[in-house]
Amino acid sequence: MSAPAVDLSDRSAECVLAARDGYQDLHGSCRQTKDVPLPHHRDILLVKRCTCWCHRYSKCPPGLA
Ligand SMILES: [Zn+2]
Ligand SMILES: [Zn+2]
Repeated sequence: MSAPAVDLSDRSAECVLAARDGYQDLHGSCRQTKDVPLPHHRDILLVKRCTCWCHRYSKCPPGLA
């Protein structure tokens, strides 16, 4: 079994879970839509923007939702 070449490390917990069957609704719960820098350390990100496809398309691509 070969895993798909999709890096989930930059996705929010909601969107990682939403990638599973039956949890698709969780894409709508993700609020991680932009980078959040650590206070006083503008170069260090506290929260990285979620890279899930659901934030890039206004509609779910066919077959993914
Ligand atoms: Zn998502
Ligand atoms: Zn997300």
